[in-house]
Amino acid sequence: MVERKEGIPLQPDKLDAVKVTRDIWVVQNSVLGQDAHTSYTGWVTTAEGAVVIDPGNFRTCQMIKDAVAKDTGKTVRYIIYTHAHGDHTAGAAAFTDQRPKVIAHENVIPRLDRYTAMEKYIRRINSIQFHFDIPPRRFHHVYPTDIYHDEFEFTLGNKTFRLFHAMGETDDHSLVWIPELKTIFCGDLLESSFPNLGNPFKVLRYGREWALALEKVLSLEPEYAIGGDIVISDRQRLREVCEDNIELFHFLENSVIKAANEGKNLEQMLEEIQLPPDLLNSPNLKQVYSRREFAIYNIWRRYCGYFDFSPSSLLPRPKRELAGVVRGLIGKDEAILDKARELIQSGKLQLALETLDIILKTDYENVPARRLRCDILLKLAAADTCLMSRNVWVHYMEEDERFLAVQK
Ligand SMILES: [Zn+2]
Repeated sequence: MVERKEGIPLQPDKLDAVKVTRDIWVVQNSVLGQDAHTSYTGWVTTAEGAVVIDPGNFRTCQMIKDAVAKDTGKTVRYIIYTHAHGDHTAGAAAFTDQRPKVIAHENVIPRLDRYTAMEKYIRRINSIQFHFDIPPRRFHHVYPTDIYHDEFEFTLGNKTFRLFHAMGETDDHSLVWIPELKTIFCGDLLESSFPNLGNPFKVLRYGREWALALEKVLSLEPEYAIGGDIVISDRQRLREVCEDNIELFHFLENSVIKAANEGKNLEQMLEEIQLPPDLLNSPNLKQVYSRREFAIYNIWRRYCGYFDFSPSSLLPRPKRELAGVVRGLIGKDEAILDKARELIQSGKLQLALETLDIILKTDYENVPARRLRCDILLKLAAADTCLMSRNVWVHYMEEDERFLAVQK
């Protein structure tokens, strides 16, 4: 059954703050209606004030502010961004009256600039990716007051905050290490499922550097590690999660580079690079948010160009032109629709979807083809356990439903 989510999710009624260890609380910024990939906000109490790490999103920030005040009784002196993604930073706007220093890696600044320049595009793709209507931004970005290049350290009260630059899901990550409490905040570099190494809508991710970041985490021997959707307080478990991810990053990167050197193109890589059983079956790498194919696309995009070693793909005509040629050769749309139905019957849903494009690339308002596409997308979505791909199927299924509802 496809999960249907309507409109803008409401904020949760209350925050479930959890004490991680002495002087550290965290709260998960779950957004109602979303079933994966939330962020954690943490706050640390010191003798001289509070430090908030990733102040959450615009829905939860006021509740977080109240919780920090109630829990610590202190002013927020510092905010740290683990990276610039909105679910980690947007809530900073709620704290500006306390005039905290805002610490982040230097790459956060061009990223926030880009978010402003591309706001419409980003709202559009996030509305597809997360399957809800992203409202216009309510607050201005709160830019860092202090940035750094490789490492940064400050102390407040009796605690040290040591930041290390890292790359992975983004190029602007900070690992935040608090040695007195043996606690590390990892942002989205530490996740409970398959890492977000590739996103069909968005900029590059960095697998090789991500592996290095997780090596760094292990080298610090933390007792507590807070990630994007996970809090780990067991060293053995942390080691298992990090090592599975590190092995995955190396496997995928090495496989794409090897295949490229062997003259293979992206299509061949997507077919041939399959995860070995230990990675495929790892409970730490379930493909519930991102997936193998998105990661391979991402690595290819990072190291290679778009050319697929077929001369026809160097300067291709718009797809609608070839579809028009093929459609004309077939002569009857019913034959195309019958073939698509046959493919659906045999479970080849993706091929059925592409077959329908022979009609839809030339005639997007073709009702029988849209009706059949809607059925295919429903089946794809119902069978897909990966949030990002499932939400794409659902987005276009709903577009088909709206179109079909106004047809005679
Ligand atoms: Zn992120």
